[in-house]
Amino acid sequence: MSVIYDLHTHTTASDGSLPPEELVARAAAAGVDVLAVTDHDTTDGLTAAATAAAEQGIQLIPGVEISVTWERMTIHILGLLVNAQRDALQTGLRALRVQRDQRAEEIDRRLAKAGIANALAGAQSYAHGPIVSRTHFAHFLVAAGHAKDLADVFRRYLVHNKPGYVPGQWAQLEHAVAWIRDAGGVAVVAHPARYRLTAGKLRRLLGEFIECGGAGLEVVSGSHSNDDCLAMGQMARRCTLLASCGSDYHGPENPWRRLGRLPALPQGCAPIWSSPAWPTGAPA
Ligand code: AMP
Ligand code: MN
Ligand code: MN
Ligand code: MN
Repeated sequence: MSVIYDLHTHTTASDGSLPPEELVARAAAAGVDVLAVTDHDTTDGLTAAATAAAEQGIQLIPGVEISVTWERMTIHILGLLVNAQRDALQTGLRALRVQRDQRAEEIDRRLAKAGIANALAGAQSYAHGPIVSRTHFAHFLVAAGHAKDLADVFRRYLVHNKPGYVPGQWAQLEHAVAWIRDAGGVAVVAHPARYRLTAGKLRRLLGEFIECGGAGLEVVSGSHSNDDCLAMGQMARRCTLLASCGSDYHGPENPWRRLGRLPALPQGCAPIWSSPAWPTGAPA
């Protein structure tokens, strides 16, 4: 039987809506064999996830999704198989959370100017862990009646040129990859088609990423169309990057994005689990 991998998911440690134990239980119920938990800028959910995975008999890949600013854009870099005990990683993530807190205050000020009071307190009431994300602002704005759903609220308030948009000052690409490698992990560019880069600019990003020691490209993502997956598969082959796949699951409120229900990697892609860093042996 073929092994089901889902190598990109979120919990309440960042902007997911399920606690780590519940995410792992759902993944197991969905038939996932190998699950990576990859919260934004924190590894706080990993201990609980590992305990739950051992109980459920699935393999947990400890991970993180690091926010990076590259050429004034936000890019997400996944670290898979990270040892969360390493100082460089934790120091780097802590600095990103300080940036996040400052950005949240600025989002609050900007929304207040647009006539929406107490947005930070509202966002915090949706956050369960150390991270305040735009997702939490979005939940508050929908609940307060400013938009009909999450997609609508992002479009109207939380993206470039909208009243609640504040660009994050995130990590440098080379630093994020270095923290991941120092922690024994493999670095993967998350959902590459989401950035809407020209092929030339994406190749430049991937060239720099490889120079820094990056290893993988998330060819199959819950946020990619079938054409995106094929194009990113071609890009991975051309750049000799290992191909990864992940749903980017945030919880049952997004029913169209399901745990472990991903298309196969395109033909000819070398999977990330063929990396020498990947643990050997069949998943439990
Ligand atoms: P942040 O890291 O705080 O800037 O928030 C980014 C998060 O917002 C992403 O990880 C997604 O979970 C979420 N997000 C971004 N764009 C959208 C969108 N258009 N609709 C729903 N969620 C989104
Ligand atoms: Mn998210
Ligand atoms: Mn992301
Ligand atoms: Mn994600």
